[in-house]
Amino acid sequence: MPSNRSTLETDLETLRHDCAHLLAQAVKELYPAVQVAIGPAFEHGFYYDFAFPEPLTADELPAIEQRMREIVFRREPIRREEWPRAEADAFFAATGERFKQELLVAIPEHETISVYRQGEFTDLCRGPHGADTGQIGLAFKLLKLAGAYWRGDHRQPMLQRIYGHPITRIFPLLIGINVLSVFSEGT
Ligand SMILES: [Zn+2]
Repeated sequence: MPSNRSTLETDLETLRHDCAHLLAQAVKELYPAVQVAIGPAFEHGFYYDFAFPEPLTADELPAIEQRMREIVFRREPIRREEWPRAEADAFFAATGERFKQELLVAIPEHETISVYRQGEFTDLCRGPHGADTGQIGLAFKLLKLAGAYWRGDHRQPMLQRIYGHPITRIFPLLIGINVLSVFSEGT
């Protein structure tokens, strides 16, 4: 079936997904012992699920948001790499990311394993993503914290889900571009 999705919709979905990776990178920087699970875009925003060693409270969201903004200003390149399956498994084992190891097992044998890297953060991900964290701009907001079972299964560990969204459905791209050009002028 041909896709009716517009370029704008596709761009917004990429932006939301970029925001999810940005959130996970910020959380990993602030809480190095955290384990990351999944972080998709959805219709109005993004979320990421985490297993924190100590439960996170909503009071901590502003500091995470602040770190996200700092990473935007670092303009870190977002790099796609394709890895042999065994290498990806070894990497996520070495970094203690057992949820990523489980996700890896669920990827069909014939599929290419791709990761996206920005700064010290590496995510198992099909993409696509933008070129660098600067393109995300600053028009995002973390909204709330909720509980979510791993894989939606109540027999699995309860994770903490952080929700966020671009401030509007249209303006993040525009504001993102403005922020970037303002920033470029200063450098
Ligand atoms: Zn991704």
